Amino acid sequence: MLDWLIIGGGIHGTYLSLFLTQRKGIPADRLHVLDPFPQPLALWQHFTANTGMRYLRSSHAHNLHFDPFSLISFTRTRAGQPLADFIEPYGRPSLALFNIHSQLLIDRYHLEALRLTGRAQGLQRHADGWRIETESGSLDAKNVILAFGNTERPFWPQWAKDAHEAGANIHHLFDPAYVRAAPQGKTVVVGGGITAAQVATTLSLESPGSVTLLMRHPARLHQFDSDLGWITHQYLDAYHAETDTARRRDMIRAARHRGSMPSDVARDLDQATQHGLLDLRIDEVTGVSLTNSKSSKHMTLELFSGETLAADRVILASGFETTRPGGTWLDAAINQYALPQAADGYPIVDQRLCWSPGLFVSGSLAELEVGPVARNFIGVKLAAERIGDSP
Ligand SMILES: Cc1cc2nc3c(=O)[nH]c(=O)nc-3n(C[C@H](O)[C@H](O)[C@H](O)COP(=O)(O)OP(=O)(O)OC[C@H]3O[C@@H](n4cnc5c(N)ncnc54)[C@H](O)[C@@H]3O)c2cc1C
Repeated sequence: MLDWLIIGGGIHGTYLSLFLTQRKGIPADRLHVLDPFPQPLALWQHFTANTGMRYLRSSHAHNLHFDPFSLISFTRTRAGQPLADFIEPYGRPSLALFNIHSQLLIDRYHLEALRLTGRAQGLQRHADGWRIETESGSLDAKNVILAFGNTERPFWPQWAKDAHEAGANIHHLFDPAYVRAAPQGKTVVVGGGITAAQVATTLSLESPGSVTLLMRHPARLHQFDSDLGWITHQYLDAYHAETDTARRRDMIRAARHRGSMPSDVARDLDQATQHGLLDLRIDEVTGVSLTNSKSSKHMTLELFSGETLAADRVILASGFETTRPGGTWLDAAINQYALPQAADGYPIVDQRLCWSPGLFVSGSLAELEVGPVARNFIGVKLAAERIGDSP
């Protein structure tokens, strides 16, 4: 029987494994991380590469180590100095630097050795803790942390689902199986936030004049996807004083700047548009008609304005599903053990992010307690402090 089993080994699960072993002294043979990918951070690396982004949205302090100065200290070493690459404001590191620093920590603390490859498919309580069912057997642990988010559930608008089923060349940028390729023919990117802007700009540089970015609204400028006051007492005091989970959900919705981008990303987009590399349209798809060509189906996107847009390929940058992650196996455990949930289906947990004795949450599952930043890097840092303080 393990002391700790972390389910999900992306940014959140990997951070938690580092924190619990290195900060809280949990012996490495008492803790494992269960994840379908053998390598840590696999989805993070895949998605960020797909966007073509060069810099993170968050500060260097939000790195994979619990020491906020770890990444900046690395750039002052002989090995790290040539890699130092930041953008202001807030000293945001390049993606390359962030990834190399993360890999350094993974190697230094032997975090890969903590991993078990597999997917949680069931959760049962027993006398001393919890049993996790996987496709290749079961695992027992005194404490379990549910540390997977919505990142395996890209959001597909209905028109896109229908056209995809009819054989249209439509992909979601956050489909784990999709690898972005240079445009062939006319590409339409659909989405209004940072990711849509980044991938459209990247593609327009690779193949000028062949890319249209279709946004529902003009660029909304916000440095972060929620204001900094959400990691301090400034907003969190009022949030924690609110006991009604429906009102907390409203506060989260109001706080998160969905479909927004920082000014540097907006500036790159603007320059690509001004130079005629990219066609930017403010409009919305209402339907798609398909015509067969020799090798593929050509699309005509019908738009809210009444206009149409021709496309050989559509790339969705429409984010992730927002309903509670976990699927049917978590539904079954919620029903069997009467795990408390809010009207939106998300867990109601205590201050230690404990859902039931020995069962903890991080990421979006912890949102109603941690607040609007729960899914981000800073969210797992806040979560780890609370979980790590558990007796
Ligand atoms: C393109 C992009 C850029 C971002 N940039 C930033 C940024 O600059 N700053 C910031 O703070 N945030 C950023 N975020 C938001 C957030 O920090 C990341 O999405 C982060 O990867 C979330 O971590 P995670 O562990 O929840 O998800 P992931 O890193 O995707 O990991 C989740 C893991 O759980 C696994 N899993 C799922 N179900 C199961 C199961 N049943 N059993 C076992 N394992 C399972 C998945 O396979 C996956 O490996 C960004 C997000 C994206 C998509």
